Amino acid sequence: MNRIVCKFGGSSLADAAQFRKVRAIVEADARRRIIVPSAPGKRNAGDTKITDLLYLCQHGASVRTDLSGPFGQIVERFVEIEKSLGLKPSIAEQLEALHAELARGVTPDYAASRGEHFCARLLAQYLDAEFVEPADCIVIGANGIVDPRSYRLLGERLADSRRRYVVPGFYGRDGEGQLRTFSRGGSDVSGAIAARAAGAELYENWTDVSGLLMADPRIVEHPRPMAEVTYAEIRELSYMGASVLHDEAMAPVREAGIPVCIRNTNEPDHPGTRIVAKLSPEVEKATQIAGIAGKTNFSMITIEKNLMNREIGFVFRLLGVLEHHGISFEHCPSSIDTVSVVMEAEELESKSELVIEEIRRTLEPDDIDFVPRIALIAIVGEGMAHTVGIAAKVFSALAAASVNVRLINQGSSELNIIVGVAPEDYPTAVRALYKAFVE
Ligand code: ASP
Repeated sequence: MNRIVCKFGGSSLADAAQFRKVRAIVEADARRRIIVPSAPGKRNAGDTKITDLLYLCQHGASVRTDLSGPFGQIVERFVEIEKSLGLKPSIAEQLEALHAELARGVTPDYAASRGEHFCARLLAQYLDAEFVEPADCIVIGANGIVDPRSYRLLGERLADSRRRYVVPGFYGRDGEGQLRTFSRGGSDVSGAIAARAAGAELYENWTDVSGLLMADPRIVEHPRPMAEVTYAEIRELSYMGASVLHDEAMAPVREAGIPVCIRNTNEPDHPGTRIVAKLSPEVEKATQIAGIAGKTNFSMITIEKNLMNREIGFVFRLLGVLEHHGISFEHCPSSIDTVSVVMEAEELESKSELVIEEIRRTLEPDDIDFVPRIALIAIVGEGMAHTVGIAAKVFSALAAASVNVRLINQGSSELNIIVGVAPEDYPTAVRALYKAFVE
């Protein structure tokens, strides 16, 4: 039987009522055999995630303060879930043992991992499923990224397609056998690893939004959800600020060609957004762009020098100055006699004067212009490469909204057009582009 891996985020498991929704979702489709939970998240805006409480306890124990406040909250929440679901009482005893471990001293990774561990223990009991210990079969490399050995190890552990498994998200072990977590939000990564390891037909990522939106809802009112989007488009959109999945979650499924579906635990009938290698012909026909994303926190340095194009190694030396100051750049658009470098403002921050001085000294430009803040907006879509008039539409929409374009960059993949505008024009520009392409 083909299997589906379902990852449920923290808000989907925040209390007993959410656990009930999760069970209904899992039982609604017999292919949903592998379940990857996060730790219980926030129940409301003022609440604290279990993971954050655990980090707090670990830190508290390391400076010998009293843990009873945050630890008490952890116990209360897990016991409440266990009791409300009518499970066999055992969590209080297990948490007591954890308290003793914390007091003796554990690593931050170990402490944080217990949120997913105990959540998965409860969920496995509730779903009558088998608990799988990730420390036995997910190996995390020294760089914090999954070691490909994990696919075989976890795959063997999940081999019986008639069973249902619960694999806690967020953690595994390192090459030396020490427990280790991925970076924050890493249960998305565990879900992707499980999907690849099990050769799943689909990776469902259940969260609290009904799919991904074509623009930032804080700027565009009720933006349309995307029905389907490609892995490549998602990469561009999330790089430009759209919050999607954990950065490292796409690679395992993308390499194996497993589609991802983002769905809402609180609205399970909504189809959500599918992330695929190639758009279906209907979607491709119906949409010009996948979405619009942007960030306002960039800086730009533009250098002008007559006959720059004849100077061999000019750009190389320019980038060398940035390297010398440990600055990584994001874009480098150029023309015959000018070249700009765009970087995150934070990277440049206190070093701007030094950097500009060094550029002046080593490159002797005719002119140098420094823009401390510029916003970049990416209009992303696979369809762009073979549609006439996309750029015209971008610039006429911005002109009609009286937005001055400071920079234009089209990626060589023809997957996006990036425009730079003044930060104060950013919301107007995003709305104008959304209106032109979507409404
Ligand atoms: N619980 C972890 C966090 O809060 C991992 C996750 O939820 O994906 O970052």
